[in-house]
Amino acid sequence: MCLICIDLAKNVLSAKEARRALGEMRVKLDKQHVAEVEAKIAEAEKPKP
Ligand SMILES: [Zn+2]
Repeated sequence: MCLICIDLAKNVLSAKEARRALGEMRVKLDKQHVAEVEAKIAEAEKPKP
């Protein structure tokens, strides 16, 4: 878990904002977690019914 995950979970970060945040954070996160965050962002980008 990182700030991006927490904010996505709380719905205070849009997918677009999360992508930008990930761009800044990815150097600090390990590769595996970057992939997890990307998956969460992809999930957040799915249209809601
Ligand atoms: Zn995270």
